[in-house]
Amino acid sequence: MTTTLPTTEDLRARARAGLERIGVTVPDGPDFQARTPITGEHLFGLAAATAADTEAALTATRRAFLTWRSTPAPRRGELVRRLGELLRDHKSDLADLVTVEAGKIRSEALGEVQEMIDICDFAVGLSRQLYGRTIASERPGHRLAETWHPLGVVGVISAFNFPAAVWSWNTAVALACGDTVIWKPSALTPLISLACDRLLDRAAEDVDAPRDVHRLLLGDRTVGEKLVDDPRVALVSATGSTRMGREVGPRVAARFGRSLLELGGNNAAVVAPSADLDLAVQSIVFAAAGTAGQRCTTLRRLIVHRDIADTLIQRLTAAYHKLPIGDPFDETTLVGPLISTTALDGMQDALTRARAQGGKVLAGGNQRLADAAPRAAYVEPVIVRVDEQTDVVREETFAPILYVLTYDTLDEAIALHNDVPQGLSSSIFTRDQQEAELFLSAEGSDCGITNVNIGTSGAEIGGAFGGEKETGGGRESGSDAWRAYMRSATNTVNYSGRLALAQNVSFL
Ligand code: NAD
Repeated sequence: MTTTLPTTEDLRARARAGLERIGVTVPDGPDFQARTPITGEHLFGLAAATAADTEAALTATRRAFLTWRSTPAPRRGELVRRLGELLRDHKSDLADLVTVEAGKIRSEALGEVQEMIDICDFAVGLSRQLYGRTIASERPGHRLAETWHPLGVVGVISAFNFPAAVWSWNTAVALACGDTVIWKPSALTPLISLACDRLLDRAAEDVDAPRDVHRLLLGDRTVGEKLVDDPRVALVSATGSTRMGREVGPRVAARFGRSLLELGGNNAAVVAPSADLDLAVQSIVFAAAGTAGQRCTTLRRLIVHRDIADTLIQRLTAAYHKLPIGDPFDETTLVGPLISTTALDGMQDALTRARAQGGKVLAGGNQRLADAAPRAAYVEPVIVRVDEQTDVVREETFAPILYVLTYDTLDEAIALHNDVPQGLSSSIFTRDQQEAELFLSAEGSDCGITNVNIGTSGAEIGGAFGGEKETGGGRESGSDAWRAYMRSATNTVNYSGRLALAQNVSFL
């Protein structure tokens, strides 16, 4: 375990240096604070967007859309390519900001920036591949086709735990698709947002794209609510808790806007008797304890065959006891801080409820480094054995708690797996092909992400990302998720010189 932490002054200096290299003037404002979960202390004061700022952003991005939508898509891709180059140049500075503000360990922070670079590469390719289809017409001398057009202004509302990558998934794809973007990041991660915004500004200057293809609005949920309610925002892409989605979804629907919701998960892995346990243990520990349990795809439930449960639990608890917890900048640390002491309170509350509902804590749960950093929240990841899927197990607690259940038949495991309100990510560990295929089939996992012999977290950008049920149904990032950022039109062209109505209708 790391016993020393950097001082807040060191962290402030590190953030300031990174911001200055990127070209951001270090902020100073009265409304809210940038803080670091590493010490739990305040870094800089910031100004929140006013109603006038929001109005100006809406007007400017709407105006920019009117030219951006007609800019050839491969030229739009040049802006995204330049953004990707700048992200590469500032990878280390950006990763520093992710660690300072979100508390991610160094390799995960670098991984988050790599994900941003990867989605830029993907979106540049996409800018030459916004394909529509030609469809067989039932009428002679007719051509039936589908075309895809830019949608408008996209409002991106993002969560603290992927403070930069979620923005880039949305923004790189939206820009390639011909949309303009307004970003309302989490109030917990304003500094990395200022850095990303500045780099996109620089990219726009470098390729002569309109500056107003993008605007950043800092602030709390009230700023996000304005985007949710404004009919000039064609698509609200909102990432965060199911609570947030429950508010945002109906409000956007009430004005017939489009929403793309990426909400909470309660992800599970099934471990079958034939599983390679070495592989399973490594995967489970990363998925459950990595990022201090603060990924939407974090493994929260383990459904283990009864015959191997004791062996697997013993190996997992041994691994948990050795997890290095502490300073996320220390290369040996694997578990950094929780985002806040409020998150720690939520975790302790869930553990109290789990015990009251019959759960037994098998490893972890103690707070660490409370003397060194009383305002921070370092905690040992926890394993809790439960006999059934009680209320607390069926909820997402955004902290490193892994509930372990046992099963006898695969049907029973799949039923337990699907019996939660969320449907984001899932895994099975097995060397039995029939079991693997059943898990991936229509009768298997009901999640948007279904894996075999790999954990629930750590998706690649090439696939579409998102989940079902209370996870919101949205898909972002790769595959054909771009279609959510465009509108399609069906074109019928009659080149026959005669009128032939569909379905053989005759008229006149
Ligand atoms: P949160 O819901 O507290 O906040 C997310 C964002 O929504 C913030 O920018 C916040 O200001 C804004 N917001 C909240 N209420 C709003 C409202 N009524 N109208 C408009 N904006 C509103 O989430 P968080 O604590 O920052 O992040 C953790 C949660 O995000 C977890 O539940 C996690 O599973 C989820 N998450 C999901 C995904 C995914 O892709 N499915 C990815 C990352 C995080």
